This record gives sequence, structure tokens and C-alpha cells, in this order.
Amino acid sequence: MWQVFGQESIITLLNHSISKQSIAHAYLLVGPRHVGKTTLARNLSQALNCTGHEPPCGQCSVCQRIIEDKHADVISTSFAPGQKAGIDDIRYLQLMASRPPYEGKYKVFIIDEAEHLSTEAANSLLKIMEEPPPRIVWLLLTSEESLLLPTVISRCQKLILKPLPVQTIEDILTVSYSVEPGKARLLARLSSGCIGWAITALKNPSLLENRQQEISKISLLLTSTVEERFAYAQDLSMQFQRQKSASEILANWLAWWHDLLLTRSGQPTLVANLDYQKTLAEQASSLDIGEISKYLTVLSLAQDYLMKNVNPRLVFESLMLDMPGKEFAHV
Ligand SMILES: [Zn+2]
Repeated sequence: MWQVFGQESIITLLNHSISKQSIAHAYLLVGPRHVGKTTLARNLSQALNCTGHEPPCGQCSVCQRIIEDKHADVISTSFAPGQKAGIDDIRYLQLMASRPPYEGKYKVFIIDEAEHLSTEAANSLLKIMEEPPPRIVWLLLTSEESLLLPTVISRCQKLILKPLPVQTIEDILTVSYSVEPGKARLLARLSSGCIGWAITALKNPSLLENRQQEISKISLLLTSTVEERFAYAQDLSMQFQRQKSASEILANWLAWWHDLLLTRSGQPTLVANLDYQKTLAEQASSLDIGEISKYLTVLSLAQDYLMKNVNPRLVFESLMLDMPGKEFAHV
């Protein structure tokens, strides 16, 4: 059974292609983080190799081993921001692709965060795609299609995974995961339509704890001095270089400032951070709509710059300088 929520048209298309044995040589799975791209890629790898009656059955030895990442013919790799995948990575994949499947019907390569392939690596990958060895399927996953080479995109069949309506996520959480209604509503609102985020937050409470810390930090920064803001910018850029957590922080900030805009424009019931409506009202009352929407634009640009590998310290420092705040304006 397919485990992906709310992407019925894609599943219908893939089931049809599998039953007609008209599998594309390469698929590009496009959609925001946590929308379900990895789950779909695993499910498709299972469906292509499953030995059960209704692929992907999820029960046979093949399906089980694929989900545990222990199947020799399903090869996953992912690339982190700032660590551009090089030509050697692709050469290794090319070598693997030159061999037929060991035990399965298809050999499947899953390349997550494909936007981080270097141009040279992407061109090498294209060469493999132009002369496809039989029974090889490439699954390229990306949340930033605009950073991929057009020639790579044109070689793939594109599958676009869209975020789900908030109400659908709330229903999935209450029905399939027995989450109590208040928490289901909060997680659904915070998920931005990405079910994977809501499920991860259920299993890993630190996600919500980190959000609380970030909200406290934003409240403090609004009235901090320029030195305090710069110290925090430095802290964030070091975190960004170590791991990806700074992108999560920026996502929390965007949600928070979007909520401030909603609150300031008289729509407080629509906010994502439902459990912070009082704090939002207090902060929104000291800001004007113009400065909130301007800062939202600055935050979105910062996300873009980080994605394009602009020096993170510069990005975070300008974020701190542009952040509105009454006390700061008088420093
Ligand atoms: Zn199976």
C-alpha cells in the first residue's frame, strides 16, 4: 500500500505506468521539504521491486528491506547545502548503474536534494541518462527546482507534490494518529501543509521545543541592542555551517512574522502559532503593517540567499539590521 498522503493523482499515474510497464527512466520529484518526496521515492522503489500481490505490499521481504534501507538495488544519497555534490559522487553512481540489478527487477537511484549537484556533476549525470542502461530508474528529489540545470529537468518526468490543505492534515492526525483535536489543529497549522513535518513533530517533541526557544529569542531581539543582534547573527551563521538547523530557524521566523502580519491586520484566528496568540497581539501592537511585510520579504530573500550559498554571516547580519524594533530604532 502506498504510504504517501494526499497525492492521489501521482499514485494513479505511477500505478498505471507500472501495470503497463512504461516506467520512465528518470523522475523528478518536486515539492517543499517534508511534503512526502522521500516517502514517495521509497514507495516507488518498493512498487517496482515488490514480490507481493498489490505492489507496494509493504509486507514482502523486498518491501521490508527497502524501508529499512537494506536492499542492494535501491541506492539513496543526499547532498547538504554548501557541500556541492562533485564529479566523484556521480562517477561512483555511474559505476553502480553500469551493473544490472543484483536481485530486484529494477535498480533505483534516489538522489535527494538534487539541487546541490555541481554543474559538472549534473552534466555527468546527464550523460548516464542519455544512454540509459536497462532496468535503471533515477529518482531526483528537490525542493528548489529553479536551481537545477534545465537539461536535467527536461530528461525527467516531473511529479509535483503539492502541500495538503490544513484541514486534511488535521483530519489525518486525529484519525490515523489519534492525536487530540487541539494538538492536531496546532500541528496542522504549523506544518504549512507538509504532513511529514507534522508526523516528525509528533515523534520528536524537540521540534516544538525549539520553536518555543526561537519565539522567546525573537521577542528578545525585538528590543535588543545592535551588539546583541550581531552576536546572535554570528551564532546563527556558525550553526548554519555545522548543520541545517538554521534553515529550520528561518522557517520558524517566517511563520512568526506571517502571524504578526495576520494579527496586525485583524485576523488573529488564522495564525499558525495558535498557542501564542497573546504574545503575537502584544508584539503586533507595537509594529506597523508596512514594517512587518517589509521584514517578511527580507526573510524570504535570506532563505533564497542561503540556498544559493551566499556567505551565511552576511545574510544573518543583514537580517538582524533590518529587523524592526522600537528600542533598536533609538540606539
Ligand atoms: Zn512488497
